[in-house]
Amino acid sequence: MSGVTLTIDGAGWRDHLRATLAANPGLVPVAKGNGYGFGLARLAEESATLGVDCIAVGVAAEVAEVSDDFDGEVVVLTPWRQGDPVAQEIITNPKVITTVSRLADLELITADGRRPRVVVEVQTSMRRHGISVDDLPQVADLLDLVDFAGWVIHLPHAETGRLAEAETLAKATAAVRPAPIWFSHIAHADAARITADLGVDLKLRMGTHLWLGAPRTRQVTATVIDVHKVSRGDKVGYWQRRVPHNGWLIIVAGGTANGIAMEAPTSAKTPRARLVSVATGGLAALGRALSPYTIAGRKRWFAEPPHMQSSLVLLPSDATPPALGDEVPVEVRLTTAVVDLTVIN
Ligand SMILES: *Cc1c(COP(=O)(O)O)cnc(C)c1O
Repeated sequence: MSGVTLTIDGAGWRDHLRATLAANPGLVPVAKGNGYGFGLARLAEESATLGVDCIAVGVAAEVAEVSDDFDGEVVVLTPWRQGDPVAQEIITNPKVITTVSRLADLELITADGRRPRVVVEVQTSMRRHGISVDDLPQVADLLDLVDFAGWVIHLPHAETGRLAEAETLAKATAAVRPAPIWFSHIAHADAARITADLGVDLKLRMGTHLWLGAPRTRQVTATVIDVHKVSRGDKVGYWQRRVPHNGWLIIVAGGTANGIAMEAPTSAKTPRARLVSVATGGLAALGRALSPYTIAGRKRWFAEPPHMQSSLVLLPSDATPPALGDEVPVEVRLTTAVVDLTVIN
């Protein structure tokens, strides 16, 4: 077939998954969004094979996408909201753990006498979701009305002050009620020490490092669909821009529908890091942009912005053009990519 293909060395990848689980007792695999490029069903299946008893999904609607392949507990990372009918529906599913991040929501979900299984999120310096540490004591009585699975502490990636914050918040939760702490984005050793000191269980939610942590075990390639000899000055593409040099126009699979040449906004804080991000990434398109396709040994320039499912890439005349049907490496960000085919060897 032609398209964008993710090829995985299954044995190598699964070795990494098992090693990561062994090094991180209490690990809760996160399967959300595009499934880190692998798809949610695949991650659910791999989690079942790993033998974990709980996984995390991002939003309520994703529970249905993992439940055929994983029959343990599923925690929903996005906090429950009254206006979400799917969240309303699954809160009674005994295998679902609902995240609650507001006192008012805890009151709402307990009002009719159901005892939903919940974790309660504490607000961190992320300031994304959570009950503020000052309000935590007000949670205590409400906890008797739910099947309480523990506290959620989701920390920022920025390291300054993170460990101290984790310790302070963890202590505050244990003062209200000692219960498992579901951490995100903290080193396992730190989380393990904090929870051991408090005598509570550790759960560590992890996605990127688990699924994408062994880059040598995967390869993303795209099929060459057409090759045309072109001369300097020839007009090509939707925008009829002129080719800057003699050579070849390579039509290769992969476009905007695959997430080709789309980058998340950079978190880079230094000008140099920002420059690197522009140079290696997609969309700069000031004039032309370097494409993520490696053809004849290096990254080549886009002739114009990628189309929906194919891209036009320029190859100079001193390079040997690929043949139709060849697979060429393409660099994609797997958390935003949609591949056409996944092959596990
Ligand atoms: C997505 C997410 C994770 C997993 O993040 P990674 O950086 O992919 O490991 C953990 N916790 C929460 C709350 C998340 O939303």
